[in-house]
Amino acid sequence: MLTALFGGTFDPVHYGHIHPAIALAKEIGLTQISLLPNQIPPHKPQPEATTEQRLEMLNLAIEDLPLFSIDTREISSEKLMRPSYTIETLEKWRKENGYQKGLAFIMGQDSLLSLPTWHKWQTLLDYCHLLICRRPGYAEKTDDMELQNWIDTHQTTNIKDLHDCPFGYIFFAHTPLENVSATEIRQNINNEQNYKNLLPTKVWHYIHQHALYNAKKK
Ligand code: ATP
Repeated sequence: MLTALFGGTFDPVHYGHIHPAIALAKEIGLTQISLLPNQIPPHKPQPEATTEQRLEMLNLAIEDLPLFSIDTREISSEKLMRPSYTIETLEKWRKENGYQKGLAFIMGQDSLLSLPTWHKWQTLLDYCHLLICRRPGYAEKTDDMELQNWIDTHQTTNIKDLHDCPFGYIFFAHTPLENVSATEIRQNINNEQNYKNLLPTKVWHYIHQHALYNAKKK
């Protein structure tokens, strides 16, 4: 069985996370996806919602979706003072589970293009496969030759590779284009514009109830 982790800030979780992930699961035959909310390094913009609120919204979003679970290892209390580096999470997962089991890390095309800014990014594939969801506005190829060569070297179009090998491949999924970002949602709320169709209704109610992301209501 291939374990799949889907890391993100989820500030808030939205359909751009959920719909592509569901389609990806269908395409390659995943039975479980663990959403992995992260802790942000102190020098980066912090999430606007608290860690608990991001977690509560994730719980509401997946309530009726048994495909998803939540992995809190990056936001558990002892980690709260440190940034979460994906590579460290993957190393830890391998220490706990060994190297025979399949592990995949899901990300959007924008995250793939930003990989050269990630800690020890070229070693990610020593631990997992990367499953890439399409994202509107982000090109399939990059001018960064080092990154493009790395992608070309490791890409597979054969789903069987993902199941037969425990790590090492990059797979571009044929996921639906969802034109939404958490930034856009936060901006819409702050500008009192509609955003209801961009995320699950329960999450919308939660944001509304707690007056999240609205500077005027703080
Ligand atoms: P922000 O706007 O605050 O930067 P975001 O909408 O990109 O947030 P994150 O929680 O940072 O959301 O993203 C988590 C993961 O989900 C990343 O790998 C990102 O590429 C992916 N993702 C987010 N939105 C989409 C989308 N609309 N389509 C495909 N992938 C997405």
